[in-house]
Amino acid sequence: VLDPLRTWWGKPITVNSGYRCPELNAAVKGSKTSQHMSGQAADIDTGDRQQNKLLFEHIRKNLPFDQLIDESNFAWVHVSYRADGNNRMQVLKL
Ligand SMILES: [Zn+2]
Repeated sequence: VLDPLRTWWGKPITVNSGYRCPELNAAVKGSKTSQHMSGQAADIDTGDRQQNKLLFEHIRKNLPFDQLIDESNFAWVHVSYRADGNNRMQVLKL
């Protein structure tokens, strides 16, 4: 998801959180089943909510994903992808 997104975007995208070990996930109050703990998820941010929304919409319309989450009104975007291909294409707002 990330490489095609970055190519399309043509500018830097900050990954605020990628893989988290269980201790880090607990420290940041991540979900107990967080895909960050299996290296399947990334939290991405351009530094601007409007631009984060553009990333979100591009992923939603053009790329395969498991879960795509608008976090806190586009403060950042969470996207996950399962390498086994069992991607749910689930879109959520938290
Ligand atoms: Zn996340």
